[in-house]
Amino acid sequence: MSGLKSWREIPIGCKTTSPGSTVRIKTGTWRDFRPVVNWEKCTKCMLCYIYCPDGTIFPESSYVDYDHCKGCGICAKECPVKVITMVEEVI
Ligand code: SF4
Ligand code: SF4
Repeated sequence: MSGLKSWREIPIGCKTTSPGSTVRIKTGTWRDFRPVVNWEKCTKCMLCYIYCPDGTIFPESSYVDYDHCKGCGICAKECPVKVITMVEEVI
C-alpha cells in the first residue's frame, strides 16, 4: 500500500498531469471485442480513422493498433461498406 497515493495527492478533478502517457500504457488489454478488418474489400474512405476515438485504425497502411484499440466498435458501426467485424476476444 505504501506506493499508492492518498486522495490528498490526486490532482483536483483527476486531471492528467502527463499528457501522452497513454502511449506507454497498453489500453488494448481492456478490450472485450476486437475489430477485424477485411482489408481486401476496404475502400480506404478513411471514415473509421476519423471516427475512432483512440486513433488506432490506419486504413492507408491496413493496420489496427491492437495495443491501444479499446474495442468500442465505432469503426465497425460507421464503416459504410461493413468490412469491419467485431470479434470477441478469447483469453
Ligand atoms: S474498435 Fe474503437 S478504438 Fe478500436 S479501432 Fe475501432 S473505433 Fe478505434
Ligand atoms: S470505414 Fe471501412 S471502407 Fe472506410 S477505410 Fe475504414 S475499413 Fe475501409
